[in-house]
Amino acid sequence: MNYQNMTAEERLWEYRRVKAAYDALSKEKMSLDISRGKPSAEQLDLSEGMLSMPLTGAECITEEGIDCRNYGLYEGLPQIRRLFSKLTGVKEEQILVAGNSSLALMYDTISRAMIFGLAGSKRPWCFEEKRKFLCPAPGYDRHFAITERFGFELITVDMTDQGPDMDQVEEYVKDPTVKGIWCVPMYSNPTGITYSDETVERLAKMQTAAPDFLLMWDNAYAIHDLKSHGDRLKDIFATSEKYGTEDRVFYYTSFSKVTYAGGAIAMMAMSLNNINIMRPIQAVRTIGYDKINQLRHLLFLKDEATTRAHMQKHAQIIRRKFDILYRALEEDLADTGIAHWSKARGGYFISLNTEDGCAKRTHALCKAAGLTLTPAGATFPYGIDPRDRNLRLAPTYPPDEELVKAAKILTCSIKLATLEKYLAKENMQYL
Ligand code: PMP
Repeated sequence: MNYQNMTAEERLWEYRRVKAAYDALSKEKMSLDISRGKPSAEQLDLSEGMLSMPLTGAECITEEGIDCRNYGLYEGLPQIRRLFSKLTGVKEEQILVAGNSSLALMYDTISRAMIFGLAGSKRPWCFEEKRKFLCPAPGYDRHFAITERFGFELITVDMTDQGPDMDQVEEYVKDPTVKGIWCVPMYSNPTGITYSDETVERLAKMQTAAPDFLLMWDNAYAIHDLKSHGDRLKDIFATSEKYGTEDRVFYYTSFSKVTYAGGAIAMMAMSLNNINIMRPIQAVRTIGYDKINQLRHLLFLKDEATTRAHMQKHAQIIRRKFDILYRALEEDLADTGIAHWSKARGGYFISLNTEDGCAKRTHALCKAAGLTLTPAGATFPYGIDPRDRNLRLAPTYPPDEELVKAAKILTCSIKLATLEKYLAKENMQYL
């Protein structure tokens, strides 16, 4: 029954019923975790072939005669750049294949801007008295943490089902101290939406007061469809080239959720002008990245078709996990009207909104009953959700049977947190 339509007395009865169920779950002393978007062991096993592949000295020499056991080829193996190009639509010559983490490449870009500046900078960013960064929220906490660590003021922009609210963005970028924006344009973390063509167009076209405005285009979930017909994302480089703004685009993705999380390869892409500026700065940092791991990935993933087929195997597993959570949310919460959640077509997350003021309490109740969720507020700058309602759910990691139990604790805790709020408002003695 819809909780809002209940009488105060009915709510009290419902509270007692839910509390009893919650206490029973708590007694089981479970230790469950749906807090981080990690692949399950079953998904990691899909890449087992990459580790058992024999890699002798002769095999380390590519068709072009590149010996992967040796220094060189700062931009990465040509075939791996080609594979990333096929999968993302970004031109090969704009791609740098680097180490194991795209997040580290993002950190490096901000760090480089701070120390050296970017194309169009009047001076390195660290000399700017005030610096602000736009953070579409709910969004990815680790993005926000990077710009917070470098001393930016974080500005919250509302996320819509088309991407960041572009009316807000266009208004904010009139301020020259606004230096950039974080974007997860496909299967966004955590709302699961893909930016509309209009959003991509407006991000490319907008006039920014900062001449060195930075579009952090983190396409982490570029090939992570859950449906047979995946979403399509408008090409950011082609669009920005139309408006002469391609220098603002820094593009990232990785194979962290294709093969091994933290043990794969990452890429970044930028305009040719930016490559010329960045390369002499970045290339003193390393003689080259791990080409043996690049080769291993090449031999295992082969080409676009094999990689996409591999991703379908991931999708099959992830869909099953998502469905366990969706089923529980539908069965336990749909009638109550107290929570709304995203239906992701790809990516790793479900974004759930409770009623205002109930997310932190839900998190605490889950924790006390043995379920770890991403902290309430983590999807907002500074970890503060102004409406205290958003929770990010990451169902991929736990085994199915644990996920079923986690879902029970979660839905029970949401109900309890909401009923506590109602009853406190109604001044009902419930404890
Ligand atoms: N970007 C987004 C949006 C992510 O969700 C994640 C992982 N949760 C990352 C980047 C991390 O990527 P990597 O492993 O390549 O550093």
